[in-house]
Amino acid sequence: MQQISIWEKESYFKHHDVVIVGSGLVGLWSAYHLKRKHPGLGILIVERGVIPTGASTRNAGFACFGSVTELMADTQKFGEQKMLEIVKMRFDGLEQIKKTFKKKEIDFEKFGGYELISASQKMDMNVLRSNIDFLNHKIKKIIKKRKPFRLHDSSISKFGFSGVEHIIENKFEGQLHSGKLCQALLRTVQSMGVTLLNTIEIKNFENVNGKIELHTNQPFNLSAGQLLICTNAFTKQLLPELHVEPARGQVLVTSPIPGLRCKGTFHYDEGFYYFRNLGDRILLGGARNKAFEEENTTELTTTEFIQQELESFLRQVIIPGTSYTIDHRWSGIMGMGDDKMPIVKKISENIYCAVRMGGMGVALAPVIGENIAALMTT
Ligand SMILES: Cc1cc2nc3c(=O)[nH]c(=O)nc-3n(C[C@H](O)[C@H](O)[C@H](O)COP(=O)(O)OP(=O)(O)OC[C@H]3O[C@@H](n4cnc5c(N)ncnc54)[C@H](O)[C@@H]3O)c2cc1C
Repeated sequence: MQQISIWEKESYFKHHDVVIVGSGLVGLWSAYHLKRKHPGLGILIVERGVIPTGASTRNAGFACFGSVTELMADTQKFGEQKMLEIVKMRFDGLEQIKKTFKKKEIDFEKFGGYELISASQKMDMNVLRSNIDFLNHKIKKIIKKRKPFRLHDSSISKFGFSGVEHIIENKFEGQLHSGKLCQALLRTVQSMGVTLLNTIEIKNFENVNGKIELHTNQPFNLSAGQLLICTNAFTKQLLPELHVEPARGQVLVTSPIPGLRCKGTFHYDEGFYYFRNLGDRILLGGARNKAFEEENTTELTTTEFIQQELESFLRQVIIPGTSYTIDHRWSGIMGMGDDKMPIVKKISENIYCAVRMGGMGVALAPVIGENIAALMTT
């Protein structure tokens, strides 16, 4: 077995004040906020992939805080207060992203967001209007901006959709480049003195005389004063007692479509389908609700069934009668539970976690990082 040198032991693999497991958005934002609060903290992030390998670089890049049907469904399931709390965290998170990075650095575009309501959803117009009024009234108070949602049916023909009865616009929604966001955030935390080591998997850990010893897949252990677990969908491996279920999300991207008419981020069916323009291509994801059981997996693969569902939605609703090819397909894994609230807490002495970001972790991660940093440093 390869041994490590004294130099390596005293530098790369030395004891750190904080070790963060997982270099996705939550691990990175947590490091960022810990360093801002305590610049002198020695922080090491360990990541088992060559790059973050879960959701953060494999998502759809929506900078959003929820669509009308999704927020109404959340209100019914979790109550109004929790729905609003999550919306506020997402909104504040998006504001932090915009403050921290130049738009160009992360390809941020504020094209607006839209929810499609199809005839097959049989939505009562009065119910729809009263839901929009309810959410506008509640949300404008917490985001301190004008009403976010309005019916905007005139854009159906502008975008060229088929089978769509109503469109609800949210002008505060935007889109970004997920790979560039992760890279920009990594550059920022590295410039603050945070170290990242890749291809190290944490197998388990134990508290030995007040220090956390981390057992890895490499021929060495790591040691930390505090441990922060940011492994989202993969949390069961390290913290089996937490209720975090993997939920695979599959995506496809078309070839460039000359004269593409839809620009923005689009939601359908309580957010189970989502698409956006990526320049003059369409990025489309979702349909997990068509095969919940099969998609309850950490396998980063795509399936014929879901991809066919997505392609038929693309053909029938988004760009009917248009020719294109599918140029990219991939999947990412979300961390879900019976509650939409992320788990941000102290597990035991010097051990913390920030996991279960659901389907809007891009927006949530900055605030979650801030909250866990506050908890770890009080
Ligand atoms: C297809 C898809 C589309 C999405 N679209 C959007 C969107 O448009 N907008 C939005 O806001 N959100 C979206 N999301 C959700 C968002 O991407 C996630 O909520 C967010 O990225 C979660 O970040 P994270 O850091 O918690 O998890 P992850 O990015 O999954 O990071 C966890 C990291 O932990 C590492 N890890 C796990 N176990 C170990 C271990 N034992 N040792 C070392 N490392 C380990 C993994 O390799 C991984 O890199 C989407 C997700 C998916 C899958």
